[in-house]
Amino acid sequence: MQRVLVLDKNKTPLMPCHSARARQLLTRGKAAVYRRYPFTIILKERDGGDAQPVTFKVDPGSKTTGIALVADFKRGKRVIWAGEITHRGQQIRDKLLSRRQVRHSRRSRKTRYRPPRFLNRHCAEGKLAPSLQSRIETILTWVGRLRRWSSISSLSMEFVRFDTQLMQNAEISGVEYQQGELAGYQVREYLLEKWGRECAYCGVDNTPFEIDHIIPKSRGGSNRVSNLTLACHECNQRKGSQTAAEFGHPNIQQQAKQPLKDAAAVNATRWALWRRMDTLGLPLEVGTGGRTKFNRRKQNYPKAHWVDAACVGESGEQVYIKPSHAPLQIKAMGNQSRQMCSVDKYGFPRTRAKHGRVHFGFQTGDIISVIVTKGTKYGMYVGRVSVRASGSFNITTPTGTVQGIGYRYCTPIHKSDGYLYEKGEALSSATTRVAVSSRQIQ
Ligand SMILES: [Zn+2]
Repeated sequence: MQRVLVLDKNKTPLMPCHSARARQLLTRGKAAVYRRYPFTIILKERDGGDAQPVTFKVDPGSKTTGIALVADFKRGKRVIWAGEITHRGQQIRDKLLSRRQVRHSRRSRKTRYRPPRFLNRHCAEGKLAPSLQSRIETILTWVGRLRRWSSISSLSMEFVRFDTQLMQNAEISGVEYQQGELAGYQVREYLLEKWGRECAYCGVDNTPFEIDHIIPKSRGGSNRVSNLTLACHECNQRKGSQTAAEFGHPNIQQQAKQPLKDAAAVNATRWALWRRMDTLGLPLEVGTGGRTKFNRRKQNYPKAHWVDAACVGESGEQVYIKPSHAPLQIKAMGNQSRQMCSVDKYGFPRTRAKHGRVHFGFQTGDIISVIVTKGTKYGMYVGRVSVRASGSFNITTPTGTVQGIGYRYCTPIHKSDGYLYEKGEALSSATTRVAVSSRQIQ
């Protein structure tokens, strides 16, 4: 169960409380709802209070980022609040691409005699692409928000997926990496990613894989990552003490030598995120992705981004998650379009320049409740509104879009803040789903 975030009368965050307690405070009139998403209450009289240490934990991903608040109680660590942020990186990329195309076509129509410019673009050292930057900004927005509404005393983040440096160089790594329990996890994760989760020899997927030495150890092959690949049991058996080339796959030896490019890009974003998190002035713990998975497997939790967040790093070794706990799904929607005038596919203006975006006190993205008492739209709806200057709004509900609802019927629940919220799937239902698929994969 998600805990309810609590503020005292001066808006100082207190320890998040149980939802039953929050309900009690609300019905007795001792508290008021401060925010709907995440659910936060503000106490009317209380000033200050005690708080247990709470850690904000994050598992940054390219599409979805898991976040979790883990409290350190006397009886152990426990997830008290969790969420999954869906980023809009792809959306940003697509929008920038379409803008570039419109400008390109306009340029070639308007300046036919100008020679094309060449190599005239520079960007600062270490600048990230806007789609990547937005992921970092979104995560930092949520660190900031949750710090304002709950008493966070430390941070913990998954730093890199694969610590490639430590995997390759035995000299700098120490015993834990090359021989410890964790070593296998690091390497295995890396290989799964690198070889696309399929057998390098026959291409079969959805089977338990074995780590195969391209040049067998019996023939002097090393344990380095560049000598390892994934193979299904049959291929591994048939290959025996042959090298990959002798087995009829000379290209694999070449492929193995190339490092995983993706890992570098993912790691670059994480470095940038780490630098920003480090400036927040709270103790910051880091852990690798291999360790996260190791912790999660050891505690028998299913794969979910928010569960991964809770299992990050050394502090993720023993974390209790209630089976009925369901995270808040947070989807980044963007605030508004900066484009003043939308264009058709030829680059011609399609609409007039925009006027204001607030109409009758509502703006697109607000979550509202609607009670229509008469006519064909009779009923009660809760959802996200798209406003029109005419006052006839559309409401997107989980079951579909209802068009043409008059503004008079609408009551605001949550003002637009650039995110869409939904209740996520509980841990226990994720468990049953994963149990079916995990039998097939590993
Ligand atoms: Zn195979």
